Amino acid sequence: MKETNGKVMIKLNDNTLLKTDALINGEWVPSDNGDLLPVKNPATGDVITQVSKSSANQTKMAIEAAAIAMQDWKTLAAKTRANLLKAWFELMIEHQEDLAKIMTAEQGKPLAESRGEVAYGAAFIEWFGEQAKRIDGDIIPAPSHDKRIVCIKQPVGVVAAITPWNFPNAMIARKAAPALAVGCSIVIKPASETPLSALAMGELALRAGIPKGVINILAGNSSEIGGEMTSNDIVRKLTFTGSTVIGKLLEAQCASTMKKTSMELGGNAPFIVFEDADIDAAVSGAMISKYRNSGQTCVCSNRILLHDSIYDEFLEKFVSATKALTIGNGVEDHISIGPLINEKAVRDVDELVQSSVSSGAEVICGGGPHQLGSCFYQPTILKNVSRDMPVFRNEIFGPVAPLVRFSTESEAISLANDTEFGLAAYFYTRDIGRVWRVSEALDYGIVGINEGIISNEMAPFGGVKESGSGREGSKYGVDDYLEIKYVLMGGLDR
Ligand code: NAP
Repeated sequence: MKETNGKVMIKLNDNTLLKTDALINGEWVPSDNGDLLPVKNPATGDVITQVSKSSANQTKMAIEAAAIAMQDWKTLAAKTRANLLKAWFELMIEHQEDLAKIMTAEQGKPLAESRGEVAYGAAFIEWFGEQAKRIDGDIIPAPSHDKRIVCIKQPVGVVAAITPWNFPNAMIARKAAPALAVGCSIVIKPASETPLSALAMGELALRAGIPKGVINILAGNSSEIGGEMTSNDIVRKLTFTGSTVIGKLLEAQCASTMKKTSMELGGNAPFIVFEDADIDAAVSGAMISKYRNSGQTCVCSNRILLHDSIYDEFLEKFVSATKALTIGNGVEDHISIGPLINEKAVRDVDELVQSSVSSGAEVICGGGPHQLGSCFYQPTILKNVSRDMPVFRNEIFGPVAPLVRFSTESEAISLANDTEFGLAAYFYTRDIGRVWRVSEALDYGIVGINEGIISNEMAPFGGVKESGSGREGSKYGVDDYLEIKYVLMGGLDR
């Protein structure tokens, strides 16, 4: 990194990937009112650069451009759209290192995790490009022999997407790729903390030959851009990933124009270790599922539920693995835990920890902010956690592992399901009967058994209850961007 005009620029192989204006109708457009958004590196507090803040009027322009662009885009042969998505995928892989550097600079996750996320995001683009060719309809037996019932699947229309900062690349890829694959155009608002990853993806989409107006990306004031996206009747679908609070607000805003919505919201994942589990495997799974992205993923283990008989063994091994984590700026080698996204995140996590400690939780290691800087938090393990404590009830979004004891399978299931969330759950066992019983009893959209990493482009990702609606990835991931049209053909005997 080098100093330029008071900003700490990121050193890239291809500096033209660092875009700071909005992408509207294939052009890079500055803010119409001159407003700028500083993008900070959470590890150092440095301002990396400033990005144009788009207005509601510019959002409207982007939506209108998307509607025009979609007219041609949806009529292209599926194979042509597939080839363009493949070209986008290939460019993302070619520029993986630069995209990872941009991500680590604005988001803070260790470089190795950023590289992994770029590959993960690109995989959705490849996958949905392939799926573009498989949007099959149906012919259904008709009520009489002179009729035929045909179902065709058509793109829902212009899509608006609002995405979070914790996966600045992949959350965009897994919305834009299925939308484009089926013939929709899209207007994207990335999180204010991480617009640079989104804009770099936009630049690569243009280079791949995706026509102007098919992808539009605007950063800026969320309620202004979101207000236009949700009230504009050209937009027929809103896809959102973020907190449950904002998801509910956007769902209500979409009601007046009856938009289709997909909501990927918060989680409160249980991680259950039964008495017959392979404890070393469970500790490895807990480490990755708890501490990935410094605990800032919607599928991070939020509550670790341990059977009485293995509690002490798990605790000893988990504490020793946690103490071995290396904390620091994610650009440095061998860092396993980077900063949290901002100082407010540190305050929020600490409040959950301190209020749980006041209610009787015991700190085994960590327990407060880290001296490395204002955005760092110590990996923390809490024991004697119970159902009524804030760390049990809330999504923590930080490197804090609350441990809870149980003594029977039914108690574990009851603890696991005792939340309004229902995104991901994990459990470790070697009993095949228990595998089926517990999988079916958990009120979650995703269940990982003897695994701490569950997400990939081939599988349907999404939650139940207040974790949202819709599925991303897999063959089901296109359904949220399609309408089914029923065509009845009559008079065929005449
Ligand atoms: P957030 O505060 O809900 O923000 C998410 C996005 O919504 C950002 O782009 C934000 O913009 C925007 N936003 C905020 N207020 C808005 C409004 N009034 N109108 C329109 N847009 C608005 O969530 P976050 O803190 O960034 O992300 C963390 C949350 O996302 C966690 O709860 C996590 O579990 C969830 N998440 C879920 C999944 C999943 O697949 N289920 C995946 C990843 C994350 P600004 O940044 O400009 O405020």
